[in-house]
Amino acid sequence: MRFSRLFAPTLKESPADAEIPSHKLLIRAGFIRKKAAGLYDILPLGVRTLLKIEKIIREEMNRAGAQEVSLPIMHPSELWIESGRWNVYGKEMIKFKDRHEREYALGPTAEEMITDLVRKEVRSYKQLPINLFQIGRKFRDEIRPRFGLMRCREFIMKDAYSFHISDKDAEREYWNMYETYSRIFKRMGLEFKAVEADTGEIGGKFSHEFMVIADTGEGKLVYCEKCGYAASTEKAEQAEPVISQGRESLFEEIEEVYTPDVKSINDVADFLGVDGSSLAKLIVIVADNKPYAILLRGDREINELKLLRLLKVKDFRFATDEEVKEFTGQEPGFLSPVNIRIPLIVDTSVAEMVNFYTGSGRKDYHLKNVNWGRDFSVEQFYDISEVKGGDRCPKCGASLIEKRGIEVGHIFKLGTKYSEAMNCVFVDENGNEKPMVMGCYGIGVTRVMAAAVEQNYDEFGIIWPVPIAPFEVEVIPVNVKNSQQMEVAEKIYKELKDKGIDVLLDDRNERAGFKFKDADLIGIPFQIVVGKKVSDGVVEVKVRKTGEKMEIAAEKVVEMVLSRLS
Ligand code: ATP
Ligand code: MG
Repeated sequence: MRFSRLFAPTLKESPADAEIPSHKLLIRAGFIRKKAAGLYDILPLGVRTLLKIEKIIREEMNRAGAQEVSLPIMHPSELWIESGRWNVYGKEMIKFKDRHEREYALGPTAEEMITDLVRKEVRSYKQLPINLFQIGRKFRDEIRPRFGLMRCREFIMKDAYSFHISDKDAEREYWNMYETYSRIFKRMGLEFKAVEADTGEIGGKFSHEFMVIADTGEGKLVYCEKCGYAASTEKAEQAEPVISQGRESLFEEIEEVYTPDVKSINDVADFLGVDGSSLAKLIVIVADNKPYAILLRGDREINELKLLRLLKVKDFRFATDEEVKEFTGQEPGFLSPVNIRIPLIVDTSVAEMVNFYTGSGRKDYHLKNVNWGRDFSVEQFYDISEVKGGDRCPKCGASLIEKRGIEVGHIFKLGTKYSEAMNCVFVDENGNEKPMVMGCYGIGVTRVMAAAVEQNYDEFGIIWPVPIAPFEVEVIPVNVKNSQQMEVAEKIYKELKDKGIDVLLDDRNERAGFKFKDADLIGIPFQIVVGKKVSDGVVEVKVRKTGEKMEIAAEKVVEMVLSRLS
């Protein structure tokens, strides 16, 4: 491709609404343009990268035995009514009517569509297992579309669904997909982690999210370098507490300390000259119209999902100061677990604490040397707080590392939720009819493009990993009016093209600095600069990622770049 013909409108400035690097850079480098909130035009450079991402996904899915299909984006409402999701999926689903007043949705995900196909065509255990995937547009009317391609209303997803005769076989395929996803993201050249994820209402332990590590990620994860445990912080479990046998012998006498005008946990800790881990904080919440007192170590936060699950509710909220007074008879901000009169739920993090501080129930006073087992009783500790970096690994006890990440893929064992609701059954060896056991596996294709940038950029622009770069090499003649430079540049360009390399020739009659800036911004891994030294038969190769520059004989440059690309 010649740059003079390339439709890649690059920009000096980032758009005002772009908050994160991938959004800014994909727009500035001419990969995407915003059409409306959460809707983007994808320009030729963007399509090139997306096609490479899709190619890797296709190859690996095919290799894993999955087969590609393509189902309509218009989903008839009947199928969603049958699965029970038409009214529960919520406002994210875009619904509309055709000219006959029949209702449809633009598919946000395709369990219903695929289950309908399989139930009609597959009857016997002999036809199973089957894993079908598609790569196509999905629509979700997100409340807050943002961060460019990261959270769109229309985006490209690879979604796969597998059908099995047994739970065991569904689990085998689950791990097959786990391996496949690991290969996919590795081949893309991305640093990622597969983390245990929340399984929502379906439950079970078969859900992993594939997270691309990046500081701007919306997700948090912890992992253990020693044993390989990795989980999203939503899901990560706290290690079993170690409660020493003779802890009672350490107990000191409880006393009241005067703590005027301190309210927040940090204020209290500062005032007392201790850190948050020496304090226990009590939080009053309301779930199902019932108040609960939640006790956590001062430096920890409630994990909402864990608490919801424990209480078996869909929702909870923090009590207002007024309610706190009414429910507990204590002063908000100075709450004490001692003699608390509403149900007390104590987090695991409190189990190892001895002689800690809590509120006293009275304004401006805290209690010192509080101990569970003496000052208030705990029948059971519950894991309801969020795991953090530095915590002990729940599997091996080593220290956990915390990172932020972007969810690019999700694998999930569905069980028989959809097959039962939609009567997707098969006849087994003994002639019995049974619901198929299902799994589903998604990759956010457009989100991968953004995540790759989020992980690979610098102040000059994008640094594409070679496997998903729109072009692998750019040839830059410094002065297009110099016939020798142009001749050599054209020759290198042609040779690389003949070798099947995606190469861009910057044949624009522009200043060299301007062209270098564009090359860096677009993020092409290798730049071959053909300048003055070409009269001595020498050109320069620049590696975008490292900034490394090498002079090399023009004759040898193709060979050299090819070896670096492989
Ligand atoms: P999230 O928690 O980020 O909303 P999700 O759990 O709703 O994601 P899935 O339903 O598992 O996502 O969809 C599969 C994949 O599709 C996700 O892993 C993600 O990469 C991608 N994806 C989901 N929603 C969006 C969106 N609004 N824009 C772009 N990609 C998305
Ligand atoms: Mg979502």
